[in-house]
Amino acid sequence: MKSHPLIIFYLLVGYVFIQFSWWGYHIVDLSSQLGYSERKVWMVIGEGVVFVILLLLGTLKIRNTFKKEHNLNQQQQNFILSVTHELKSPVASIKLYLQTILKHDLKKEKIHEMTTGALLDNERLSSLIDNILLAANMENNPNYVHFEIINLSELLKRMVAKMKNSAEKHKSHIKTAIEPGILVLGDTLLLESVVINLLENALKHSSGSLEIAVYLKKTKQTILLSISDNGIGIPNNEKDRIFDKFYRIGREEIRKTKGTGLGLYIVKSIVEKHHGKIKVKDRLPKGTLFEISFPISHDQ
Ligand code: ADP
Repeated sequence: MKSHPLIIFYLLVGYVFIQFSWWGYHIVDLSSQLGYSERKVWMVIGEGVVFVILLLLGTLKIRNTFKKEHNLNQQQQNFILSVTHELKSPVASIKLYLQTILKHDLKKEKIHEMTTGALLDNERLSSLIDNILLAANMENNPNYVHFEIINLSELLKRMVAKMKNSAEKHKSHIKTAIEPGILVLGDTLLLESVVINLLENALKHSSGSLEIAVYLKKTKQTILLSISDNGIGIPNNEKDRIFDKFYRIGREEIRKTKGTGLGLYIVKSIVEKHHGKIKVKDRLPKGTLFEISFPISHDQ
């Protein structure tokens, strides 16, 4: 949305206010000339004030709707830009790997290296498609979640082990303090996706070696899961928006990290489907901390 519809709207509202004040002044003036009682004049003024308040409230509401629409448009544009790039680049890279293997008489180790590269690209592509499908399914299908009793401690350990190689490649390491045997009523695939998205984000959005911490503990009322890193952190004015669909910090054209802005939206939706809450905080002295709390059900 360009800004001029909003300017036209402000001009119109301004015009209505000026006209209204002008007519208001005349009505009051005329009433006193016609000798209306002071009570009647105050009634006219009172009604005028109510009208102005309603007009102000309406203006604010319309302005907010304009702004929301504008943000959503911007985010959708970002999404299309990033998704096009995210889909095209692994496909091109897999094609290049395969063409090189076909055209050249390569040594066994080189072929191994190239197929590993192609497989990694393939994984990237399939995780992007999974995320897009997951977001669509969760929005359109209320029965998408399959609840069962699961061991969250084991699930967390499994996912940390799965991300170990990726962390080593980034010269980072994941430390854990996971209380054993914590059971939750949840959907295994969805909770796995929460952990993977948060761990991938920690690695993806900061450069240099990182220390990622994964904690899980049970208190009297809640199960607390936290995933934190000592990376670049998230500015306070962005903290509310990062969970929005397609939202990514910064401008798409100059951003270096890969992504679509769907990750944290999916994470939040999954946590809420499990009746949990997610918060983002600063990790001190530096970095980001995501804290998820699940309520403890009485039959656990
Ligand atoms: P994506 O990772 O695809 O960009 P997400 O929804 O997962 O989208 O995250 C939204 C934005 O929040 C990211 O673009 C990034 O700027 C910011 N962000 C998320 N996690 C972290 C983190 N651990 N450290 C710093 N910034 C983060």
